[in-house]
Amino acid sequence: MPSIIVQKFGGTSVGSPERIKAVATRVIESQKHYDHVVVVVSAMGDTTDDLISLAKQITSKPSAREYDALISTGENISAALVAMAIQAQGGHAISLTGPQAGVQTENLYSKAKITRVDPTRLRKELSEGKIVIVTGFQGLNDFNDVTTIGRGGSDTSAVVLAAALGAPVCEIYTDVDGVYTTDPRAVKTASKLAEISYDEMLELASLGAKVLHPRSVECAKENNIILHVRSSFSPEEGTMVKEANPMENNRPVTGITLSEEEAVISLNKIPDTPGTASQLFTQLAEASVNVDMIIQSSEENNKNTITFTVLEDDFDTAKNVTESVAKTLNAQNVTTNTSIAKISIVGVGMISKPGIAARMFSALGKNGININLISTSEIKISCAIARSDAKHALALLHTEFELDKH
Ligand code: ADP
Ligand code: ASP
Ligand code: MG
Repeated sequence: MPSIIVQKFGGTSVGSPERIKAVATRVIESQKHYDHVVVVVSAMGDTTDDLISLAKQITSKPSAREYDALISTGENISAALVAMAIQAQGGHAISLTGPQAGVQTENLYSKAKITRVDPTRLRKELSEGKIVIVTGFQGLNDFNDVTTIGRGGSDTSAVVLAAALGAPVCEIYTDVDGVYTTDPRAVKTASKLAEISYDEMLELASLGAKVLHPRSVECAKENNIILHVRSSFSPEEGTMVKEANPMENNRPVTGITLSEEEAVISLNKIPDTPGTASQLFTQLAEASVNVDMIIQSSEENNKNTITFTVLEDDFDTAKNVTESVAKTLNAQNVTTNTSIAKISIVGVGMISKPGIAARMFSALGKNGININLISTSEIKISCAIARSDAKHALALLHTEFELDKH
């Protein structure tokens, strides 16, 4: 079996002509170690943001199809430039768009899931000795229209291609040299992890650590592909995301994330009867609102209050839905708070060590930080707190759980 590697380069890594030339040199070097090299690229620097802002200057409600037709184009530019840079350095390369590379998605725009990959064209080009550069972030739906797969989705494009081609490792080249205990830009003392389990990485990514797109981790786990997150600026090894070895894990907490884009909505004093929660959350789901933490508290006179968090992007829709449910249910009122942050600790080690939640809550309490809502899974504990406390909470929990680098 010929050896194959898939390498993904993010926005900063292809952010300028100089960076693109450096990527070309690096992938040509990889050809010495692997029979086949597939490269997946993001758009250069802030190109995707710039395209979104262009659309906004035309209309506040662009059609979903044209929006994707526009924002998918950043990747076309970087793919063609990387292919040219490789050719200019004497290598053989061809760029393919997602559709040309056989990437098929759902018939949804902006956050379509990749449904399958037909690697026929990719295999043909690879068998001719070419380095194949594929645009991340895009695919084709059943109507032959270009779709995009969600912000940060190029990581997922790369892993999906690695799965389709049978590559055992997918390298994610980015602007940090690995996965850290928390965002190293937010906490200077964050330490780099040599490895992290799929499950922990999936929690961290889903909770907002943008170093990997959540679906890329899911897909890597399903296909047993090792993700090697590393810097495009240095030759050093980064972090391996792979199946955990729980025997070797002594830490209760592996990483911490902070999401500062949360909002809280309360539906106050609704009659305590069966079916009220279901009415609210069914209607929120029908409006495509993702609800995160939920608490229900009982009060006097058979009245309940339901409080929940949503991402800021969904806040307006969620508030409208809740207000309309409030009328039907005869609720007292709806109250909201848009200055909320969610801080989460993640670690497979907490399964076997009791008292981790207590330690988190008392560390926050001792520092005068009030907890509004709590949610947990087997390997994570999240607290909603005031946004003004967020940075302080992150630093103090990072120290509390001994994650600072020495
Ligand atoms: P790319 O453009 O290469 O896809 P991203 O900006 O999407 O890069 O992701 C890399 C960024 O993720 C880093 O610059 C870092 O600030 C941020 N980040 C957040 N959490 C973490 C973490 N736990 N470890 C490493 N980086 C993190
Ligand atoms: N260019 C896209 C974005 O900015 C996809 C990616 O970079 O992964 O979201
Ligand atoms: Mg990214």
